[in-house]
Amino acid sequence: MTILDTVNKLKSGEITSRSLVESLKATFEADKKSELPLNAFLEIFEDATAKAEACDKEIAEAKAKGSLDKLFEEKPLLGVPFASKDNINVRGQKITCGSKILEGYVAPYSATVINRLEKAGAIPLGRCNQDEFAMGSSTEYSSYGPTRNPANRQYVSGGSSGGSAAAVASNQAVFGIGTETGGSVRLPASYCGIYGLKPTYGVLSRWGVVAYGSSLDQVGILGHTPRDIALPLYAMAGEDFYDDTSADLPCKEDLKNLKAYTDFSSLKIAVPKQFAETKGLDEDVAKVFEETKQWFISKGAKIEIVDLPILDASIASYYVIALSEAASNLSRFDGIRYGNRIDSGKGYDELYVETRSNGFGPEVKRRIIIGNYVLSEQFSGSTYKKGMSVRARIQKEVAKLYESYDLILCPTCPTAAFKLGQKVDNPLEMYLSDLYTVFVNLSRCTSISVPAGKNRDGMPVGIQFAGPMFSEAKILSIAQAWEDEKGNN
Ligand code: GLN
Repeated sequence: MTILDTVNKLKSGEITSRSLVESLKATFEADKKSELPLNAFLEIFEDATAKAEACDKEIAEAKAKGSLDKLFEEKPLLGVPFASKDNINVRGQKITCGSKILEGYVAPYSATVINRLEKAGAIPLGRCNQDEFAMGSSTEYSSYGPTRNPANRQYVSGGSSGGSAAAVASNQAVFGIGTETGGSVRLPASYCGIYGLKPTYGVLSRWGVVAYGSSLDQVGILGHTPRDIALPLYAMAGEDFYDDTSADLPCKEDLKNLKAYTDFSSLKIAVPKQFAETKGLDEDVAKVFEETKQWFISKGAKIEIVDLPILDASIASYYVIALSEAASNLSRFDGIRYGNRIDSGKGYDELYVETRSNGFGPEVKRRIIIGNYVLSEQFSGSTYKKGMSVRARIQKEVAKLYESYDLILCPTCPTAAFKLGQKVDNPLEMYLSDLYTVFVNLSRCTSISVPAGKNRDGMPVGIQFAGPMFSEAKILSIAQAWEDEKGNN
């Protein structure tokens, strides 16, 4: 069910929020017992039912008073359960970031994005699985087992927000939120066959979201339709006192009743050569991409191939910057301030070493080591600086491109979802899954992955509609036009 379906059914009394939450809980319990569990949710929050009952009460009271429409005007997500990610704080609930080091840790406060969704009436249903500390592209690096793909359970869900994507794709939640540092919402959206938006850096507050690479981190939204993304974005977007990098979204009002785009004849689209002629681009993905281009052309849009050689350096720049920031951010997990502690009484150094050696998984350790290596005295001023200057170039050249074009069109990933275990021991190959997504994070812009077709194995393929900073309403409305013609929702 979409948000609109859910709200209409809640209004008409066909369902109650309580009955919806109970049925989603039952689906979760049944999945846990199945032979190949999806493992999308790590936990359904115990208080979700009580919160749903409170929403039902509000709805009943407004109905009696004849003010139902007014109520939903104020709270457009009233009674709608959503999937959250295990690195977003929900006060009083456990939060582990998919890591053993935080097992049993309870969130002392709620993230701004959670507070704002709750203010709009939405119900945090539970926390979803993810790659440990959001480091990964398949959700296989979780300490709590992988999340499987709802389209075929032998395949990965994508990552790092694989749990939130699988929860939405399998109808275990109406919509979901995840986080992006370098594609972690768009990639699982593409693999699971749903929509996933990475907003402009700053549009969604990072307060209460566990940091990975702070200059890149951004909360993202997963939904069945672009409208299902627009409404939660409307509820969450805007400046936050607690996050100095946060910013208002100028096009926010257009999100409330998102219209499908119509003005295709004035649309200019750039297709970077670097993303259309890549060696690793899968044949079936290339075919779906071609069909998407043809759709735009048939609508009257102009498409041009552009040459942006700097994009070839985006993966290298991203991993240098993200891992440097991660090494610094993750130093707070020291066994003193957060989560688990292993103390054999031999002093602080031992305590740090034992807690971190036992608490972090192998991929997180690899990244902390690489990050510290890059930042070490021997290298400072060379590798990190180079990573930063490549980023500045990408930012500048992408911004310049958007002076002449409305959209960048490219596949979300070089391949569709792969089988579980296929890349888990080959980090470099795993990193290459992010080839087409990280330029958006590096340039602080926005992009949506739209479900655009299937490969020969029936696995979903996503294509990105990427736009300049603060163009969320426009790219979502273009995606809505796509959904109206091509979608199943
Ligand atoms: N796959 C990328 C990484 O491992 C992106 C992760 C993310 O966006 N959180 O760093």
